[in-house]
Amino acid sequence: MSTLLILGGTILTSDDANSIIENGYVLVNENMIVEVGSGQPTTSNYDQVIDAKGMVVCPGFINAHTHLCTIFGRSLGSDRSLLQWLSDAQVPMLRALQIEDYVLSMELGAIENIKAGNTTICEVFVCAHYADGFDEVCVAALARTGIRSIFCRCSNDESFFDGFIETRQDIISRSERLIRNWRDHERVRIGIGPLIPWGSSADAFVDAVHLSQENNVIIHLHTSETPEYNDLVRSRTGKSNVEMLADVGALGDRVMLNHCVHLSEHDIGLIAETGSHVIHDPTSNMILASGVAPIPQLRAAGINIGLACDGPACNNTQDMIEVMKNAALLQKAVTGQADALIAKDVFTMATRGGARAIGMGSSLGSIQPGFLADIILINTEAPHLTPMHDPMATLVYSARGSDVHTVIINGQIVMQNRTVTTMDEKEILVKARERAVCVRQRAGL
Ligand SMILES: [Zn+2]
Repeated sequence: MSTLLILGGTILTSDDANSIIENGYVLVNENMIVEVGSGQPTTSNYDQVIDAKGMVVCPGFINAHTHLCTIFGRSLGSDRSLLQWLSDAQVPMLRALQIEDYVLSMELGAIENIKAGNTTICEVFVCAHYADGFDEVCVAALARTGIRSIFCRCSNDESFFDGFIETRQDIISRSERLIRNWRDHERVRIGIGPLIPWGSSADAFVDAVHLSQENNVIIHLHTSETPEYNDLVRSRTGKSNVEMLADVGALGDRVMLNHCVHLSEHDIGLIAETGSHVIHDPTSNMILASGVAPIPQLRAAGINIGLACDGPACNNTQDMIEVMKNAALLQKAVTGQADALIAKDVFTMATRGGARAIGMGSSLGSIQPGFLADIILINTEAPHLTPMHDPMATLVYSARGSDVHTVIINGQIVMQNRTVTTMDEKEILVKARERAVCVRQRAGL
């Protein structure tokens, strides 16, 4: 048995009352939080102590939608709208990736996420090489990095770019294989989902619902991201994205609807009554000029919301602290109301909201006994974080991902004093820079 004590910090618990504990401690046994309080723990028996004086201690962030697979496309095709950016830059890059590039994408992306304090990611995996088993290799690569992940194997059976379409039978059998092979891993879960509502047939959505129900896995998809996406779905089905999903039974508490920027009142009602989850990506929505998601209305309807960076190629980083700030600022700016979305709301979305969306609301995303030990320490002894009258406002509005000092995932220290312990960061950066040049040449860009 191995016990770890985090001692002396300001704990933002993200519990139901959003309690903040000054001069706090967190006792971890193996991969679980067993005791949380102020002052000293009830036992003096522990194997390791982390000094958290001057630190904010909080649950690791849940980056509920990303595409690490696009990391080699970072900074390519900037200042274009979504479909243009995809066709000009990202799709050619994805097609040109070899298996080693995919593995590096997972490793580099995991390092970037860990260094920003993101302890869980939803990797929304898009690939032109499913037939060659790239999905399996990438899950294994992610598992080795030490990060907690939901690996969502995305698919299209009807329309998307050439090379990204599979038959329904292949989608089912390849998804089932992945689910079977990773069923018992303690940090990796498999999710599935038609990538975009205009890329799959109604039958493929029904397949996804069956797969989800039979295997108890989540469905994750892009929804109502841009007016163009909405038009593509309406021209195929005569319905909105959400109405089409409701028709094929693809809404519910195992469904994560990513983006939800352009929704009608009727759509919001359907999402609320089915208990579907919304994932909000404010930075990506701004970069790609997609629009502003109606977060206050979704919250008022009682819908659970998680936060996400989106891929490293459309953010263009994996900094969830920046995403929290952008989420709050965006609503203030468009509503003219300073309290439209406040610091503690976005913090809850980045922790508990994401955990609920991935089906782990009672075990992840909070610092309280019985929860998994995914914990980060943020060094506040820096000019831009001084003074700290209000720890929540300091975290959301003043801190940056690079202030994260120590990261614990599943009870294991995966970063200490900004050094990642599970991978050789230097070597991975060198390899990624070299291989990115080759990928870009193969892509003809
Ligand atoms: Zn996406």
